[in-house]
Amino acid sequence: APIASVRLMAENLERGKISEPAKQGEYFRFIVQECRRLSSLIENVLDFSRIEQGRKQYEFEPTNLVALVETTVKLMEPYAKEKGVKLETSNIQHPTSNTELCVDGRAIQQALVNLIDNAVKHSSKGETVTVGLEINNGGDMATINHQPSTINLSVADHGPGIPAAEQEKIFERFYRLGSELRRETQGVGIGLSIVKHIAAAHGGRVRVESEVGKGSRFIIELPMQRSA
Ligand code: ADP
Repeated sequence: APIASVRLMAENLERGKISEPAKQGEYFRFIVQECRRLSSLIENVLDFSRIEQGRKQYEFEPTNLVALVETTVKLMEPYAKEKGVKLETSNIQHPTSNTELCVDGRAIQQALVNLIDNAVKHSSKGETVTVGLEINNGGDMATINHQPSTINLSVADHGPGIPAAEQEKIFERFYRLGSELRRETQGVGIGLSIVKHIAAAHGGRVRVESEVGKGSRFIIELPMQRSA
Protein backbone atom coordinates (compact mmCIF):
# COMPACT_ATOMS: atom_id res chain seq x y z
CA ALA A 1 0.00 0.00 0.00
CA PRO A 2 2.68 2.62 0.77
CA ILE A 3 4.46 1.95 -2.53
CA ALA A 4 1.21 2.26 -4.48
CA SER A 5 0.29 5.57 -2.87
CA VAL A 6 3.79 7.02 -3.27
CA ARG A 7 3.72 6.07 -6.94
CA LEU A 8 0.25 7.55 -7.44
CA MET A 9 1.25 10.83 -5.84
CA ALA A 10 4.54 11.07 -7.77
CA GLU A 11 2.69 10.35 -11.04
CA ASN A 12 0.11 13.05 -10.33
CA LEU A 13 2.86 15.53 -9.59
CA GLU A 14 4.78 14.55 -12.70
CA ARG A 15 1.74 14.98 -14.96
CA GLY A 16 1.17 18.45 -13.56
CA LYS A 17 -2.20 17.40 -12.14
CA ILE A 18 -1.47 19.09 -8.83
CA SER A 19 -1.15 22.81 -9.40
CA GLU A 20 -1.81 24.20 -5.97
CA PRO A 21 1.56 24.80 -4.19
CA ALA A 22 0.16 23.89 -0.76
CA LYS A 23 -1.16 20.60 -2.08
CA GLN A 24 2.15 19.93 -3.84
CA GLY A 25 3.99 20.50 -0.57
CA GLU A 26 1.65 18.09 1.16
CA TYR A 27 2.29 15.43 -1.50
CA PHE A 28 6.07 15.90 -1.30
CA ARG A 29 6.04 15.61 2.49
CA PHE A 30 3.96 12.45 2.28
CA ILE A 31 6.33 10.91 -0.29
CA VAL A 32 9.41 11.70 1.83
CA GLN A 33 7.75 10.33 4.96
CA GLU A 34 6.58 7.12 3.28
CA CYS A 35 10.02 6.55 1.76
CA ARG A 36 11.53 6.86 5.24
CA ARG A 37 9.09 4.31 6.57
CA LEU A 38 9.77 1.95 3.68
CA SER A 39 13.53 2.21 4.24
CA SER A 40 13.05 1.33 7.87
CA LEU A 41 10.75 -1.57 6.96
CA ILE A 42 13.28 -2.90 4.44
CA GLU A 43 16.07 -2.54 6.99
CA ASN A 44 13.99 -4.58 9.43
CA VAL A 45 13.30 -7.30 6.87
CA LEU A 46 16.97 -7.52 5.87
CA ASP A 47 18.07 -7.62 9.49
CA PHE A 48 15.46 -10.21 10.27
CA SER A 49 16.83 -12.54 7.58
CA ARG A 50 20.41 -11.89 8.75
CA ILE A 51 19.37 -12.79 12.30
CA GLU A 52 17.58 -15.94 11.10
CA GLN A 53 20.71 -17.04 9.26
CA GLY A 54 22.95 -16.16 12.19
CA ARG A 55 24.78 -13.65 10.02
CA LYS A 56 23.84 -10.43 11.80
CA GLN A 57 26.99 -8.67 12.96
CA TYR A 58 27.27 -5.89 15.48
CA GLU A 59 29.92 -3.21 15.66
CA PHE A 60 30.37 -1.96 19.19
CA GLU A 61 31.90 1.40 19.90
CA PRO A 62 31.66 4.01 22.65
CA THR A 63 28.40 5.86 22.09
CA ASN A 64 26.71 8.65 23.96
CA LEU A 65 23.21 7.35 24.57
CA VAL A 66 21.70 10.76 25.37
CA ALA A 67 22.76 12.05 21.95
CA LEU A 68 21.51 8.85 20.34
CA VAL A 69 18.08 9.21 21.97
CA GLU A 70 17.88 12.86 20.88
CA THR A 71 18.78 12.08 17.26
CA THR A 72 16.30 9.23 17.13
CA VAL A 73 13.46 11.31 18.55
CA LYS A 74 14.20 14.04 15.97
CA LEU A 75 14.14 11.42 13.23
CA MET A 76 10.72 10.17 14.34
CA GLU A 77 9.14 13.58 15.02
CA PRO A 78 7.69 14.12 11.51
CA TYR A 79 6.05 10.69 11.64
CA ALA A 80 4.50 11.39 15.05
CA LYS A 81 3.36 14.83 13.90
CA GLU A 82 1.69 13.37 10.86
CA LYS A 83 -0.27 11.05 13.17
CA GLY A 84 -1.13 13.92 15.53
CA VAL A 85 0.89 12.33 18.35
CA LYS A 86 3.18 14.33 20.60
CA LEU A 87 6.66 12.82 20.91
CA GLU A 88 8.69 13.98 23.90
CA THR A 89 11.71 13.03 25.97
CA SER A 90 11.72 12.86 29.74
CA ASN A 91 14.68 13.06 32.12
CA ILE A 92 17.24 12.08 29.56
CA GLN A 93 19.95 14.45 30.80
CA HIS A 94 22.06 12.93 33.57
CA PRO A 95 24.76 15.53 34.23
CA THR A 96 26.52 13.57 36.96
CA SER A 97 26.37 10.11 35.41
CA ASN A 98 28.20 8.65 32.48
CA THR A 99 25.75 7.84 29.71
CA GLU A 100 28.40 6.59 27.33
CA LEU A 101 28.27 2.89 26.61
CA CYS A 102 29.97 0.54 24.20
CA VAL A 103 27.12 -0.31 21.82
CA ASP A 104 26.24 -0.70 18.16
CA GLY A 105 24.71 2.75 17.77
CA ARG A 106 22.89 1.94 14.54
CA ALA A 107 21.31 -1.16 16.05
CA ILE A 108 20.22 0.62 19.23
CA GLN A 109 18.75 3.38 17.09
CA GLN A 110 16.89 0.81 15.02
CA ALA A 111 15.51 -0.79 18.20
CA LEU A 112 14.32 2.62 19.44
CA VAL A 113 12.80 3.43 16.04
CA ASN A 114 10.84 0.17 16.17
CA LEU A 115 9.54 0.92 19.67
CA ILE A 116 8.64 4.54 18.85
CA ASP A 117 7.01 3.45 15.60
CA ASN A 118 4.84 0.97 17.53
CA ALA A 119 4.00 3.48 20.27
CA VAL A 120 2.92 6.13 17.75
CA LYS A 121 1.03 3.55 15.70
CA HIS A 122 -0.98 2.46 18.74
CA SER A 123 -1.66 5.99 20.04
CA SER A 124 -4.72 8.07 19.28
CA LYS A 125 -4.55 11.62 18.00
CA GLY A 126 -3.57 14.06 20.72
CA GLU A 127 -1.81 11.48 22.90
CA THR A 128 1.80 11.67 24.01
CA VAL A 129 4.64 9.18 23.53
CA THR A 130 7.52 9.61 25.97
CA VAL A 131 11.08 8.42 25.42
CA GLY A 132 13.26 8.18 28.52
CA LEU A 133 16.77 7.23 29.61
CA GLU A 134 17.15 6.04 33.17
CA ILE A 135 20.25 4.95 35.00
CA ASN A 136 19.47 2.00 37.19
CA ASN A 137 22.08 1.40 39.82
CA GLY A 138 19.62 -0.95 41.39
CA GLY A 139 20.25 0.05 44.99
CA ASP A 140 21.30 -2.37 47.71
CA MET A 141 19.01 -5.22 46.71
CA ALA A 142 20.49 -5.33 43.23
CA THR A 143 24.01 -5.56 44.62
CA ILE A 144 22.95 -8.37 46.96
CA ASN A 145 21.26 -10.20 44.07
CA HIS A 146 24.27 -9.57 41.80
CA GLN A 147 22.15 -7.66 39.31
CA PRO A 148 24.20 -5.48 37.00
CA SER A 149 23.72 -1.73 36.82
CA THR A 150 21.88 -0.87 33.66
CA ILE A 151 21.06 2.06 31.44
CA ASN A 152 17.40 1.77 30.54
CA LEU A 153 15.91 3.22 27.38
CA SER A 154 12.14 3.42 27.56
CA VAL A 155 9.27 4.25 25.25
CA ALA A 156 5.86 4.81 26.85
CA ASP A 157 2.46 5.34 25.29
CA HIS A 158 -1.17 5.77 26.39
CA GLY A 159 -2.48 3.35 23.79
CA PRO A 160 -4.71 0.28 24.22
CA GLY A 161 -2.15 -1.69 26.24
CA ILE A 162 -1.32 -5.38 25.96
CA PRO A 163 -3.08 -8.15 27.93
CA ALA A 164 -0.78 -9.90 30.43
CA ALA A 165 -1.17 -13.23 28.61
CA GLU A 166 0.26 -11.69 25.42
CA GLN A 167 3.15 -9.74 26.92
CA GLU A 168 5.73 -12.49 26.28
CA LYS A 169 4.37 -13.61 22.93
CA ILE A 170 4.57 -10.21 21.22
CA PHE A 171 8.37 -10.57 21.16
CA GLU A 172 8.10 -13.74 19.07
CA ARG A 173 8.56 -13.33 15.33
CA PHE A 174 5.39 -12.83 13.28
CA TYR A 175 3.25 -12.65 16.41
CA ARG A 176 0.59 -9.95 16.21
CA LEU A 177 -2.36 -9.28 18.47
CA GLY A 178 -5.94 -9.78 17.30
CA SER A 179 -7.23 -11.58 14.27
CA GLU A 180 -5.71 -11.10 10.84
CA LEU A 181 -9.01 -9.77 9.46
CA ARG A 182 -9.73 -6.89 11.79
CA ARG A 183 -6.30 -5.42 12.14
CA GLU A 184 -6.27 -1.70 12.73
CA THR A 185 -2.53 -1.29 12.40
CA GLN A 186 -0.15 -2.15 9.60
CA GLY A 187 2.81 -4.39 10.22
CA VAL A 188 4.28 -7.82 9.78
CA GLY A 189 5.20 -8.73 13.35
CA ILE A 190 8.98 -8.72 13.20
CA GLY A 191 9.76 -5.34 14.84
CA LEU A 192 9.81 -6.53 18.44
CA SER A 193 11.68 -9.75 17.65
CA ILE A 194 14.45 -7.58 16.21
CA VAL A 195 14.45 -5.34 19.30
CA LYS A 196 14.78 -8.48 21.44
CA HIS A 197 17.72 -9.73 19.38
CA ILE A 198 19.48 -6.36 19.52
CA ALA A 199 19.05 -6.09 23.30
CA ALA A 200 20.36 -9.64 23.79
CA ALA A 201 23.36 -8.95 21.55
CA HIS A 202 24.29 -6.19 24.01
CA GLY A 203 23.97 -8.54 26.99
CA GLY A 204 20.69 -6.86 27.89
CA ARG A 205 17.02 -7.49 27.44
CA VAL A 206 13.76 -5.84 26.49
CA ARG A 207 10.60 -6.07 28.55
CA VAL A 208 7.19 -4.47 28.66
CA GLU A 209 5.04 -3.06 31.43
CA SER A 210 1.49 -2.68 30.24
CA GLU A 211 -2.08 -2.48 31.39
CA VAL A 212 -5.07 -2.83 29.09
CA GLY A 213 -6.79 0.52 28.66
CA LYS A 214 -3.90 2.47 30.14
CA GLY A 215 -0.92 2.06 27.84
CA SER A 216 2.42 0.35 27.48
CA ARG A 217 6.00 1.02 28.42
CA PHE A 218 8.78 -0.86 26.66
CA ILE A 219 12.17 -0.87 28.35
CA ILE A 220 15.51 -1.83 26.82
CA GLU A 221 17.94 -2.63 29.64
CA LEU A 222 21.62 -2.35 28.71
CA PRO A 223 24.21 -3.51 31.25
CA MET A 224 26.86 -0.91 32.03
CA GLN A 225 29.74 -3.35 31.97
CA ARG A 226 29.44 -5.88 29.23
CA SER A 227 31.34 -9.07 29.90
CA ALA A 228 33.60 -9.79 26.95
P1 ADP B 1 4.10 -5.22 14.07
O1 ADP B 1 4.07 -3.87 14.70
O2 ADP B 1 4.65 -5.23 12.70
O3 ADP B 1 2.81 -5.97 14.20
P2 ADP B 1 5.86 -5.94 16.28
O4 ADP B 1 6.74 -7.12 16.44
O5 ADP B 1 6.50 -4.59 16.33
O6 ADP B 1 5.14 -6.12 14.89
O7 ADP B 1 4.72 -5.99 17.36
C1 ADP B 1 4.01 -7.22 17.60
C2 ADP B 1 2.63 -6.94 18.17
O8 ADP B 1 2.73 -6.39 19.49
C3 ADP B 1 1.84 -5.89 17.39
O9 ADP B 1 1.13 -6.47 16.33
C4 ADP B 1 0.89 -5.34 18.43
O10 ADP B 1 -0.25 -6.19 18.54
C5 ADP B 1 1.69 -5.47 19.73
N1 ADP B 1 2.28 -4.16 20.13
C6 ADP B 1 3.54 -3.75 19.90
N2 ADP B 1 3.76 -2.52 20.41
C7 ADP B 1 2.59 -2.14 20.98
C8 ADP B 1 2.15 -0.95 21.69
N3 ADP B 1 2.98 0.07 21.90
N4 ADP B 1 0.87 -0.93 22.14
C9 ADP B 1 0.03 -1.96 21.92
N5 ADP B 1 0.37 -3.11 21.27
C10 ADP B 1 1.63 -3.19 20.80
